[in-house]
Amino acid sequence: MDHHGSPSPDARPEVAVLGGGQLGRMLGIAGIPLGVTTRFLDPSPDASASAVGSLVVARLDDVDAARRLAQGATVVTYEWEGVPADTVRALDGCAAHPDPRALDVAQDRLAEKQTFARLGIPVAPHAPIDTVDDVEAALAVTGLPAILKTRRGGYDGKGQARVDDFDGARAAWLDLGGVPAIAEGVVDFRRELSILAARGTDGATACYPLVENRHERGILRTSRAPARVAESQQDEGRSIALRLLADLEYVGVLAIELFDCDGQLVANELAPRVHNSGHWTIEAAETSQFEQHLRAILGWPLGSVELRGCAGMVNCIGRLPDRAAVLRVPNAHLHDYGKAPRPGRKVGHVTVVAPDDDTLEERLARVHALQQDDG
Ligand code: AMP
Repeated sequence: MDHHGSPSPDARPEVAVLGGGQLGRMLGIAGIPLGVTTRFLDPSPDASASAVGSLVVARLDDVDAARRLAQGATVVTYEWEGVPADTVRALDGCAAHPDPRALDVAQDRLAEKQTFARLGIPVAPHAPIDTVDDVEAALAVTGLPAILKTRRGGYDGKGQARVDDFDGARAAWLDLGGVPAIAEGVVDFRRELSILAARGTDGATACYPLVENRHERGILRTSRAPARVAESQQDEGRSIALRLLADLEYVGVLAIELFDCDGQLVANELAPRVHNSGHWTIEAAETSQFEQHLRAILGWPLGSVELRGCAGMVNCIGRLPDRAAVLRVPNAHLHDYGKAPRPGRKVGHVTVVAPDDDTLEERLARVHALQQDDG
């Protein structure tokens, strides 16, 4: 600190990250040129992020371990929305961004839907199911078929069941463990989109364009940016993101998953963190989502979200493709998360950048042909 009480330019910010997966690793990598050091809390001793920062090995609900991690840090953040909000709240005296209120919303599908609806953001018809007696009334709201989702703990399509009739719905709810859940109407969407946006500590905002996503078996397979949508839809996406950022007094990068229903956007869920559908920003935006998140939470100016062409991102699920073969594709960028191969596991991704759609499609086809997914 100088005599005005502001940090000296020599002081290197230290960011404590709850979670140490590939998102943490890429946050850490983005911090290096900025002189930002990162440290992580993760239950796995060989967490992906341990390659770029120190690691405290403990569960994310271990408040003592989180306090050790946060000791002396400039700011605490998270790279997983499952981080218990209570862990963050127990770190009093240490700045934490985004505010744990965003975790409360993201961790409860009912609160999430209610937040969207309160802000005038379209959502699927939905109703809570707390007991077996609620099933009938919930289906009266959603219609059939419907999707049952546990309120907490579901991800990548887990904790969900599609149901076609009342008896099936009762059985499916019991199968989900009879835990608090919601029923949701099935949305007849043309494609899945997402938007990533950032808000700084001064309230400044920046939105990346809408991204097109393709999922398989609940896991994101590919993203394409920008989405091929009308400018009015881009505006609608931005408006949704800005409403959420303001309402949650959010600081950092926020991701929102949306359904495109013939031009109308319907919100599905939000992730209060950097997001898989934003990995393309590393090579194809002026500022990557990872640098943007660090800028936001450290109180620095947000960076430009201009694109450097069109981009496609392909997740490597299960194992990586042949490195040399990927690198032979023009403007293809391989990211290896340093994880052991395992069916269904995200072990890396490839981003391809191109000046136009046709070139992008041709390059992406070459990358797809190299995929050896076993997930
Ligand atoms: P989620 O865990 O909510 O992201 O759901 C996983 C995937 O299931 C989504 O990416 C969609 O492909 C599909 N899905 C979820 N909710 C709905 C819905 N209400 N209508 C149709 N498809 C859905």
